[in-house]
Amino acid sequence: MHLMKIKRVEILTNKEPIRLTEPWRPAWREPDGVHTTDFTLSLYKVYTDQGIIGYGPNLGGDPKLLRGLNPFYIRKFWHNHMGGKRAGDSGKRAAGLEIALWDIVGKAARQPVHQLLGASCQKIPVYAATSRLLEISQHIEQVKTLINFGFKAVKLRLHRPDPWADVAVIEAVRSAVGDTVEILVDANQNNSSEVYNFWSRQTAQQVARELDLLNVYFLEEPLPRNDVEGLAEISASVDMFIAGGEHTPVVADFKSHILAGSYDILQPDITLAGNFGITGLREISSVADFFGKLVIPHVTGNGNFFITLAATLQAMATVDNCPMVEFPYDPPILTPDTMQTLLAEPIWIDKDGSVEVPNKPGIGIEIDEDRLALEVSLAWEI
Ligand SMILES: [Mg+2]
Repeated sequence: MHLMKIKRVEILTNKEPIRLTEPWRPAWREPDGVHTTDFTLSLYKVYTDQGIIGYGPNLGGDPKLLRGLNPFYIRKFWHNHMGGKRAGDSGKRAAGLEIALWDIVGKAARQPVHQLLGASCQKIPVYAATSRLLEISQHIEQVKTLINFGFKAVKLRLHRPDPWADVAVIEAVRSAVGDTVEILVDANQNNSSEVYNFWSRQTAQQVARELDLLNVYFLEEPLPRNDVEGLAEISASVDMFIAGGEHTPVVADFKSHILAGSYDILQPDITLAGNFGITGLREISSVADFFGKLVIPHVTGNGNFFITLAATLQAMATVDNCPMVEFPYDPPILTPDTMQTLLAEPIWIDKDGSVEVPNKPGIGIEIDEDRLALEVSLAWEI
């Protein structure tokens, strides 16, 4: 059989911005970070000599890494550019290229990637990740709306100047909705913003104790990722899960967290730190499972969310220890209109709070380029 070759890579971006309905300042940019008014998207479009085209989110990785590669050699690509055994991590941000390779391989096999790799399920529960700090009454209203839509789990953010005001919000929401929904809480303490008031270990511990009493499902990033000992102390002292790791650059970086018991739930992101990809999510899930840990991947991407979510779902439908996946949803700003603009059929929840793993060949989705004015901003003949 003729070996498949990659012959061209384009970067597609939206000519017109994806306008948000109102300026957006997420909790992690409080108190005075900038407001976002629109989203952009940027995709790799990878052409092969056999007419198969793969898409991946562009995170800045160099398409020339694909030069001379047989697209079926994904493990080799991952090892060389993303695996993390080399000094200094890789810094190559190649996860979006790896996703495009999986898209090509699945399309060549006429199977969605999760089927090709050996599926464990066809549906995965998701949690609605809200993003902003609102008034207590607005949070209660919003959580009720999300419950009505069918979400079984909702994440709220903390980062008010007074941490006890944060706890009061969770308390009020819990008492308004009872146990009809799992409440997840993100303290976003692994933050790179310039003006950010970090909690002390003492504060984190006290907040965790209160949230534990409110039957919170998980507390995410109560301390920066590098405070492995502090996180382990909190984790040991509460029943609730302690979660984190969205900025973790490579699989091996979770080692100290697993050995110290600092995270009960690992939250790798398929593209945020650039190096996981579908291969890495499966790899860390296997390692975590061996140590009795759960994986609930972080998913973001703003305008690129639809493709990072589709690829994440393909990976997580092949593992045994993923109880749910993050689904950013914070109407009227973070919605399928702004985050899944290129999908004629956006990925959305069933009545049971799960999403169907996208089941078209490749990463499972049909990208309709006509839904936005796209332009080829760069192209490489490979
Ligand atoms: Mg987070």
